[in-house]
Amino acid sequence: MRTITLINGDGIGPEISKSVMDIISASGLEIDWDIQTAGADVIEKEGIPLPERVLESVRRNKIALKAPVTTPIGKGFRSVNVQLRKELDLYANLRPCKNLPNVKTRFENVDIVVVRENTEDLYAGIERRIDDNTAESIKIITRNASERICKFAFDYAAKNGRKEVCCVTKANIMKLSDGLFLETYRNIAQNYPQIKQREILVDNLCMQLVQNPTQFDVLVLPNLYGDIVSDLCAGLIGGLGVAQGANIGTDCAVFEPVHGSAPDIKGLNKANPTALLLSAIEMINFIGEKSYAEKIEKALYKTLEAGICTADLGGSASTTDFTKAIIERL
Ligand code: ATP
Repeated sequence: MRTITLINGDGIGPEISKSVMDIISASGLEIDWDIQTAGADVIEKEGIPLPERVLESVRRNKIALKAPVTTPIGKGFRSVNVQLRKELDLYANLRPCKNLPNVKTRFENVDIVVVRENTEDLYAGIERRIDDNTAESIKIITRNASERICKFAFDYAAKNGRKEVCCVTKANIMKLSDGLFLETYRNIAQNYPQIKQREILVDNLCMQLVQNPTQFDVLVLPNLYGDIVSDLCAGLIGGLGVAQGANIGTDCAVFEPVHGSAPDIKGLNKANPTALLLSAIEMINFIGEKSYAEKIEKALYKTLEAGICTADLGGSASTTDFTKAIIERL
């Protein structure tokens, strides 16, 4: 049996974690969950929101499923999410965005995978105030980081039957930094002749995405554009309740929904577990258990097709009703 770390989070985290564990267990896939608490709730006992034992558990098990974790603002703690990414060197942010049955959106048949570089660009945090009226931020793009993210995007495409990887930059203006990213993409692309190449400027991409998103397949982007475009794409498929994600490194991978811990609906049995479930499905695929991933995805789709969904998607099912309906369809 495979051991996987489960960071069950706070707010709605524990409720949606239970839902997802119940669904996976009902599918027949046996997982030994190494449950680790983190976030606001553990500060009182352990003094920090991300104790070392959580990092050790992910390092040991290599794979984690993570529910949302809140980092208290203004108390001097580093964001749990940022710290996890840094400590585990999770350099690739993966955001598959695919339309779901009965989830009303502007477009149908959107199926885009956003691959965002997670470690550098303007997020390197190199900023200074030069004087009262001027500040500067430095954008760092390195060949190493660009190479590994482009390679990740092409490998993902090859492994998942994707046809195209499109490189998104603003290399016409930032000729050196974005230019290096683009040059690296072109070099890496040569190793994958079976996958189509495409290059687009980020402003044009945004216009195309809101007019005709089904033309895109896999997108690979530096950190800042990736951050913005991945939220745009999440909006295309129905927003927070259904947006999944993963942060992947060389040794470890953490699968997690995009949404936060939704404290406003904590404990009300209203939370939508779909985004965490989709993250878990991606995780199950990642560990090579494709048949279980397909089985759970089918049960989720059938449930949504039957018009059963939580309030955030316009339905009336509680978290537990929705979970039960998926389990019945497995
Ligand atoms: P954070 O700072 O942790 O991102 P936030 O309040 O900005 O928190 P979310 O926690 O994602 O963002 O919540 C935004 C809104 O979306 C809230 O009204 C919340 O109830 C709703 N929401 C988020 N996730 C879900 C979910 N899984 N099911 C139902 N509603 C959700």
